Amino acid sequence: MSGINPCITCGACCAYFRVSFYWAEADDGGGVVPSALTEQVTPLLRAMRGTNQKSPRCVALAGTPGGATRCTIYSQRPSPCREFACSGEGDQVNEACDRARARYGLPPLKCHPLVTEGAREPSTRVQLAVDKYRP
Ligand code: SF4
Ligand code: SF4
Repeated sequence: MSGINPCITCGACCAYFRVSFYWAEADDGGGVVPSALTEQVTPLLRAMRGTNQKSPRCVALAGTPGGATRCTIYSQRPSPCREFACSGEGDQVNEACDRARARYGLPPLKCHPLVTEGAREPSTRVQLAVDKYRP
């Protein structure tokens, strides 16, 4: 196993999904996510700016999806970002990760050494994170 985090040469999920979360995760609600980088989408939900549109791209993403990328608010990112696992993490496949990667021409990570053929179902934790992205 190389030990290199595949996310640092990807960033696809940051430019594929709407990233929404409970409004109070923002810093003007007592949380840590910079509120200036968010927009209200429902009375209870905010989204990272740039992700609530037809061609999403989070304003906090630096770099080019599919290439070298970086989250500029990594320590302050919202819960969906912290909970969204790349395929292979914890011996689980995250279908949503593979789908986002495919959008940018990247292969799925199912061949990741941590993933075995017997571990194809997304974990509850991963599924929870995927659900949070849904409108
Ligand atoms: S799509 Fe998967 S590999 Fe790419 S940045 Fe997101 S979690 Fe990481
Ligand atoms: S906050 Fe960071 S990790 Fe979350 S979508 Fe934006 S760039 Fe990606």
